[in-house]
Amino acid sequence: MKSVLVLGGTREAHDLADAMARVGVPGLVSLAGRAEPVRDYGLPVRLGGFGGVDGLRGFLRSEGIGAVLDATHPFADRMPWHLAEAAGAEDVPWAMLKRPAWTAGAREAWTEVKDLNAAAKVLPSRSVTFLATGAGSLEAFRHRDDTRMVLRVLNPPHDVPSHIRVIKAMPRDVASETMLFHELGITHLVAKNSGGPTRAKLDAAAALRVKVIMVARPPLPDGLLFETVDQAMGWLHGLS
Ligand code: NAP
Repeated sequence: MKSVLVLGGTREAHDLADAMARVGVPGLVSLAGRAEPVRDYGLPVRLGGFGGVDGLRGFLRSEGIGAVLDATHPFADRMPWHLAEAAGAEDVPWAMLKRPAWTAGAREAWTEVKDLNAAAKVLPSRSVTFLATGAGSLEAFRHRDDTRMVLRVLNPPHDVPSHIRVIKAMPRDVASETMLFHELGITHLVAKNSGGPTRAKLDAAAALRVKVIMVARPPLPDGLLFETVDQAMGWLHGLS
């Protein structure tokens, strides 16, 4: 079997690479090389962008790549499109592996919005909003100085306006999130629909009747889409 390129930056990419290594599927993992955690992938790792679609086409050719799995984060909105174009042009089989999105439970009513700017628009004046949307989301909320906000991040951004308080912390369990929202007097939560294990904030919001503004995932190109590592591995086995 020819080498399989895994586009990573997620736990799913790690688990896929690990599964490939365990059964001897040859391949390598590519990371953008910014803030991804250092992990043992079980496969060789390369770092950094490819240089757009043309760069990726060249990489597929020069490395003799036989298949590609895009396991980038659901909010990585360029890499899947670059892959669709490059792999299509080079006639290399490709697919996407994205963890399932969160869905609202029976007692939850989320306001779903298409992006961060739309989220900033729907927040009422004088609301106290918890932003679980990362440091890169600051700009979208900068102008809402008629509200108060708390932005939770690992790496605090610079030039934060006075209506936004930054706390440096990781997401935690439901009890801790509930206590935090209660102490901060949170009325609204803005979250990106990443899916995966950091759902505790949503359960805490439901418990406290905090209103949830859920930012939808960006669109993906047409193509094979898997939700589990087992599905992706089944596809890879079918290619060999
Ligand atoms: P993006 O908008 O889809 O990609 C931007 C550029 O970064 C791409 O055009 C590509 O550069 C390079 N790139 C992205 N993923 C790459 C990979 N796996 N290997 C090599 N180059 C890659 O993605 P992003 O939102 O900037 O995210 C960057 C990385 O962080 C992704 O790998 C993603 O899985 C991870 N991540 C993102 C988020 C998020 O919320 N967006 C959260 C957690 C982890 P070239 O055009 O030069 O090839």
